[in-house]
Amino acid sequence: MHIDPVNILKDHDLKHTKQRVRVLEEIALDTVAISQPELEKKLGKEIDRVTLYRILNTYEDKGILHRIMDMNGTANYAICSSSCTEHHHHDEHVHFNCSNCQKIYCLDVKIPSIKMPPGFTASSINTTAYGICEKCSAGMKAD
Ligand SMILES: [Zn+2]
Ligand SMILES: [Zn+2]
Ligand SMILES: [Zn+2]
Repeated sequence: MHIDPVNILKDHDLKHTKQRVRVLEEIALDTVAISQPELEKKLGKEIDRVTLYRILNTYEDKGILHRIMDMNGTANYAICSSSCTEHHHHDEHVHFNCSNCQKIYCLDVKIPSIKMPPGFTASSINTTAYGICEKCSAGMKAD
């Protein structure tokens, strides 16, 4: 998937600032999600923590990024599919958290629709699978 940060900002009516572009660039580099501490480490020299936090919140709000909590309770971020809009995320796919490399993958696997009891309205459903990812399994076999 090719990601053009400047276009994404334009599509979501966000003013493009150097810092906003940098955050998106960094997240778009890899197909796996990136954790907030990792982002802080990579962008720490250019963007302070508070600004980074604010940018991530804006992106989540606007339907640009979705947040996935890993097994340690750390927030990870991945680029949304184009069907996400402001306040309406449609990232109903399964996430995979590898217990070996700790990476979080957005899998192209749809979460089956789950029927809620009367009176309960779910705004989002998170499904995270834990185990060993493709890359780690391959590495283990090679040894
Ligand atoms: Zn989304
Ligand atoms: Zn792995
Ligand atoms: Zn995802």
